[in-house]
Amino acid sequence: MGCQMNVHDSERLSGSLEAAGYIPALAGSEADVVVLNTCAVRENAGNKLYGTLGHLASVKRDRDGMQIAVGGCLAQKDKHDIVSKAPWVDVVFGTHNMGSLPALLERARHNDEAQVEILEALDVFPSTLPTKRESTYSGWVSISVGCNNTCTFCIVPSLRGKEMDRRPGDVLGEIQALVDDGAIEVTLLGQNVNTYGVEFGDKFAFGKLLRAAGEIDGLERIRFTSPHPAAFTDDVIDAMAETPAVMPSLHMPLQSGSDAILKAMRRSYRSEKFLGILDRVRAKIPNAAITTDIIVGFPGETEADFQETLRVVRLARFSAAFTFQYSIRPGTPAAGMPDQIPKAVVQERYERLVALQNQIALEENEAQIGRDVNVLVAAGEGRKDAASLRMTGRTEDFRLAHFEIPAGSDVPRPGDVVTVTVTAAAPYHLLADSGDGSPLRIRRTRSGDAWDRAEAESCAVGDEPATGNVSLGLPGIRTSLLG
Ligand code: SF4
Repeated sequence: MGCQMNVHDSERLSGSLEAAGYIPALAGSEADVVVLNTCAVRENAGNKLYGTLGHLASVKRDRDGMQIAVGGCLAQKDKHDIVSKAPWVDVVFGTHNMGSLPALLERARHNDEAQVEILEALDVFPSTLPTKRESTYSGWVSISVGCNNTCTFCIVPSLRGKEMDRRPGDVLGEIQALVDDGAIEVTLLGQNVNTYGVEFGDKFAFGKLLRAAGEIDGLERIRFTSPHPAAFTDDVIDAMAETPAVMPSLHMPLQSGSDAILKAMRRSYRSEKFLGILDRVRAKIPNAAITTDIIVGFPGETEADFQETLRVVRLARFSAAFTFQYSIRPGTPAAGMPDQIPKAVVQERYERLVALQNQIALEENEAQIGRDVNVLVAAGEGRKDAASLRMTGRTEDFRLAHFEIPAGSDVPRPGDVVTVTVTAAAPYHLLADSGDGSPLRIRRTRSGDAWDRAEAESCAVGDEPATGNVSLGLPGIRTSLLG
């Protein structure tokens, strides 16, 4: 549930549980342990959590020994409230102590009592925890956690704490380990990647990190998310442009095009600075596709402010935008601001923004028609692929592309790279259909080989592992991680 940081945390939770001897529940089977890794940023996060917990209460009643754990940002925020509202929960843990989950489950079982453990500061950098990666070809690597900014709509600083940077050697070591395991793509992750280095006093550390990662043999695609416009410096643009493995895509949150609203949000850049960064990125990387996040209906937003957002969107020509309707997040400064905008007004502005952005995204995608693009084949990105005989992946500039498998063509494996010609476009994806039925141009990669190996291993494992690295005296425990 939530942002990429949370999704990556879920991988670490899976890794910690597997290292402790837990086994993933098979699809369709009932789990003995359910872990909810929550997000406090999403609208109605609390309602959704308690709704899910309500459902799980009845499952647990019929299933002796089942345990439920709740972690992540909402747990960090609500702490003991969770067990008072849902006393059937066994473990509550926060964002700073994910590695404690197996021990907390064991303690809850042993003491027959709910365990609530929320630390106010990080005890161990999360990337040192074991990680169960969801993908063989692509991985996330945290470079920092926490954030030193104080955006008034955001709960992250109070839940994740001040920025902590990981040492460059540790980051590069983890990337190398991923590459050794078969990955060809890595996304560097932080709430604010371009302030990386603030903790060890090097304001050019992020650009240097990109260049150093670009030296890693076998790493073909480097991405990062998210940079903050206020901290965006030209050395990062140079590093992007001069490092072939850094992909020509940039996700940079705009949030609002109105300078007055940016000020109220306590975002310390202004729209002209934002647009200036885009100009400089495009001057050095002409094929860069730029995506963003935008919030509509922040308290006090007037129609004139909203028009400013539309103006910046027209000028910026984002290839995609994640658009959000502002809603009150308890615990944030903006929640107490006067002039909250009525829902109907927010909705109407939101629809205008989405219509404009969809039009621009369509035009930007249509400009790709006729071009050859290299697509890193994904496992299960598109739901309709099976019916349409298409597969799906991401282009170098991060557009979603569905491509046809012509009759008789070899079929690529997830992690392989295909070169296809774009034949049609929609606001959210490209299509590449073979006009003449000629076979796909496939480059078989180390990631595809790693996919084959992983498939072979999962087939060899069968339904029930006969033995396992079981600790805690809990053989056969299955886990299901919702995150
Ligand atoms: S930069 Fe702002 S929005 Fe991003 S995590 Fe920090 S406080 Fe939140």
